[in-house]
Amino acid sequence: MTTNPQNVSCSESHSGRELHRAGWIIVDPSIVIENGYIEIENGFIRGVHKGAPKEKGIDHGPGVLMPPLVNTHLHLELSALKGCLPFDKGFKVWIKTLLEKRETLGQEKLIKEARKAVRNLIKSGNLYVGDISTLGITKPIIEDSALSGVCFHEFLGSGGQPFFAQKNDFISFSVAGHAPHTSSPKLLKALKQCAESNDLPFSIHVAESDDESEFIHDKKGQWADFLTDRGIDWSSWDIGSKTPVSYINDMGLFDPLTIAVHLLNVNNKDMEILAQSKTKVCVCPRSNQNLHGKLPDIEKMITAGIKPALGTDSLASCDSLNIFDEMDFVQKHYPGIDPAVIFAMGTINGARALGIEGLTGILSKGRKAQFLYRSVEAMNKKDLFQRIISNE
Ligand SMILES: [Zn+2]
Repeated sequence: MTTNPQNVSCSESHSGRELHRAGWIIVDPSIVIENGYIEIENGFIRGVHKGAPKEKGIDHGPGVLMPPLVNTHLHLELSALKGCLPFDKGFKVWIKTLLEKRETLGQEKLIKEARKAVRNLIKSGNLYVGDISTLGITKPIIEDSALSGVCFHEFLGSGGQPFFAQKNDFISFSVAGHAPHTSSPKLLKALKQCAESNDLPFSIHVAESDDESEFIHDKKGQWADFLTDRGIDWSSWDIGSKTPVSYINDMGLFDPLTIAVHLLNVNNKDMEILAQSKTKVCVCPRSNQNLHGKLPDIEKMITAGIKPALGTDSLASCDSLNIFDEMDFVQKHYPGIDPAVIFAMGTINGARALGIEGLTGILSKGRKAQFLYRSVEAMNKKDLFQRIISNE
């Protein structure tokens, strides 16, 4: 069980001129200033400087000022299911139980727990999100909070319902397809088209489960039977002898405005496809560990030139929605990855995936005057990143 770091405070400035000083300032994972200050004017960063400010400012202390965290993939509407679902009976049982329990809980409870989860995100410095909602209940909760990012309305099956996308300065509304094995190609293409025409990211879970890979490769198996039993005609889907990644690629859905989430079952060719198409990638390792007992090959992604973002998935498959916890998990399970790279996954890589890198992800000129202070004491830059992403 991981705990939220207690030593995080969030600062936000809306108007006037302010100077914020600290022992360390992380401008971005490659630019770290020891003993410096951030200059703010009218709610935006004007510059970051070395040394002590000559004017009166706010001295945060010897710790670090850093960009807020970005949770690129989560499902706030499933927050009420925390601790209710079995992880040890397989993915299908987990999904079946999830749908049943969600139904019995009722919308009021789902909304109440989603609101609570939002409060915890803000308290722990996770100020930007890519939220996935099939019920469409989280949009007003996010709009009513201090969170920013993208609300993705998720669809599956053959669609049929109307959908829309809208780009805004702080909270945009886009669409997501659930997964290649749960949604018709016609629906996925229409969703992608809707997001793209509004210059917004489109999100989709890809290559998460063995059932998904088996169905798309062999055109048979338990998933094929499941769809057929439900009266879903998948005979026109162009599957067979493909991986989930190659199937989605053949559909033309991979480009820099698509976020492919999970990518547990991928081969070298798949990695190449994702890297060459500059598709954004988001991994949720703690959720994968709980639901599938395996982890994405993040090292191989990085070697292929991919810059993965981090998500937590939902509280139905993960202990917390806090990216500090996810970074801590990555550090422990992938000791070969540079801590500064893990930090990038939880900040700028997520901002790029959600298309909000002009707003946040780094602390440089023009970004929103919003940052975290963590009271860590570090000896050098490497030590600094290690301490930030560690929960101990
Ligand atoms: Zn998800």
